[in-house]
Amino acid sequence: MQITLPPPVVAAVAGTDTGFPVRRVFCVGRNYAEHAREMGRDPDREPPFFFSKWAETVVPDGTTIPYPQATKNFHYEAELVVAIGKAGRNISVDAALDHVFGYATGLDMTRRDLQLEARSQGRPWDTGKNVEQSSPLGLIHPASQIGHLNKGAIRLTVNGAVKQSADLADLIWPVADIVSFLSGLYQIEPGDLIYTGTPAGVGPVVSGDEMVVEIDALTPLKIKVGDPVA
Ligand code: MN
Repeated sequence: MQITLPPPVVAAVAGTDTGFPVRRVFCVGRNYAEHAREMGRDPDREPPFFFSKWAETVVPDGTTIPYPQATKNFHYEAELVVAIGKAGRNISVDAALDHVFGYATGLDMTRRDLQLEARSQGRPWDTGKNVEQSSPLGLIHPASQIGHLNKGAIRLTVNGAVKQSADLADLIWPVADIVSFLSGLYQIEPGDLIYTGTPAGVGPVVSGDEMVVEIDALTPLKIKVGDPVA
C-alpha cells in the first residue's frame, strides 16, 4: 500500500499567479446579531468563539460540491473571509490589521441538523461543520490593493433569489477584534483563513442549486450543489 500526501490547497490571489497556501481554517460563530437571534441565541457582546475546519475543505470558485452524506438539512452561510499574512500571538486590536494579507468571499457550508443536535447535547460541532468541500473560497484580494474592509454589502443568492443581505458594518466583532482574539488563543500563521461569521437568513440548499456570494469590493463566489455524494 502506497500512501501519498494530497497536494497543498492553494487559493487564488487577484493580480498574481502566486497563490495563497492554506494552512488552517478558523471560523467565528454568531457574529451578526440577527443571525444569533435566528439561531435562538441572545446576541449580547459575548467574546467571539471559534471552531475550525481542515484546510482541505477549502474549494475554489466554480466548484460543484456534492450534497454531503448524513444530512437532510445542508445550509449555506455567506461570510467575509480574512487571509492572514503575518504570524503573531497576543496581538493588540490596533496592530491586528497589519497581520491581514487580504479578503475574500466565502461559504461556511453546514450540516445544520448535525450541528443543532450536537449543540443541544453539548457536544462539539465538528460533524456539522467540518465536512469535505464545505469551505468554498473566492478570489483573495490583497489589502495592499483594496484596503481593509469594515463596511460594505454582503449578499447571498440561491438561484437568483436573495437569501442573505446585510452589511459588514453589522459584524458584532469586526476584523481587527477577531484577529486580536484569535491570536490570544493560537499563534496565527501566514496561510491561515478566518471565516468571520454569517448574517441572518441561513437556509437549506438542494442538489442543482446555485449559490452566489457577493461582497462589495470583492469578486463574487459562485458554487453549485451537485448530486448526493456517492
Ligand atoms: Mn459560519
